[in-house]
Amino acid sequence: MSETMPLVRAINVYKSFGSVEVLKGIDLDVRSGEVVCLLGPSGSGKTTFLRCINQLEEIQGGRIWIDGDLAGYKEKNGKLHRLHDNVIASQRREIGMVFQRFNLFPHMTAIENVMEGPVKVQRRPKRDVEAEALGLLEQVGLADKCHAFPSQLSGGQQQRVAIARALAMKPKLMLFDEPTSALDPELVGEVLEVMRDLAKEGMTMIVVTHEMAFAREVADRVVFMDGGVVVEQGNPVEVINNPQHRRTQAFLSRLRAEHEQAVQQHVEAEQALEA
Ligand code: ADP
Ligand code: MG
Repeated sequence: MSETMPLVRAINVYKSFGSVEVLKGIDLDVRSGEVVCLLGPSGSGKTTFLRCINQLEEIQGGRIWIDGDLAGYKEKNGKLHRLHDNVIASQRREIGMVFQRFNLFPHMTAIENVMEGPVKVQRRPKRDVEAEALGLLEQVGLADKCHAFPSQLSGGQQQRVAIARALAMKPKLMLFDEPTSALDPELVGEVLEVMRDLAKEGMTMIVVTHEMAFAREVADRVVFMDGGVVVEQGNPVEVINNPQHRRTQAFLSRLRAEHEQAVQQHVEAEQALEA
């Protein structure tokens, strides 16, 4: 592969569920160290696209390369051949994913959750992994909670453990799918802060989010999707402050209205508490 090959290259990706076409020719390049925020209305195909990148879904058309390797397939005489499951599994291990719902193992402590992948999947020695896991929990500000069970942690803390758990596999790429959408507003900031630090350290990240302040500040580029296609992309400040496409404009103004409404409700709830 040429030295200019980005870490992620998706070309003309098509994905359908039965007769429903969800992705209709998505192109996306993400360079190493780049942070890309993926925006778009509900149902536009953002989650599906992340799942295709992570090979949780098979695609019906197009190609996805991760670090120069064709994801899931081998190309021979112009034809694609599906790779063996174990090869696909090893490709997938290079990619960390954090979901909207913190999906920690409930019967394991924070540190056990973080150690699980490296010990069980990578079969690394427990002692080395434990030291690293503690370091990762420290990185996400939770060293003091290492022996807590998920039920003893707030949503924000659980999500930070989930990030540490993904990082324990030393991924080349991190995918975030609305990581703060299920959190109470007061817990959103601590998760975004961990993600901001990760971005500063040079992690390559694709982040699906509705947090426009985060996107404007942290993303190198924002990509707006609608109806299974990329409608508009570019510099975060330019796209968010001055969207060119009608659909981007409509989405952003709707988001702004929802945000203002949520803030208003929050203020009223606080006032009701004080009264
Ligand atoms: P977004 O994350 O942007 O909200 P999704 O990728 O979740 O969008 O969904 C895009 C479309 O694909 C939706 O219409 C959704 O109903 C459909 N879809 C997603 N997953 C499946 C599935 N497993 N089976 C059938 N339809 C699906
Ligand atoms: Mg989604």
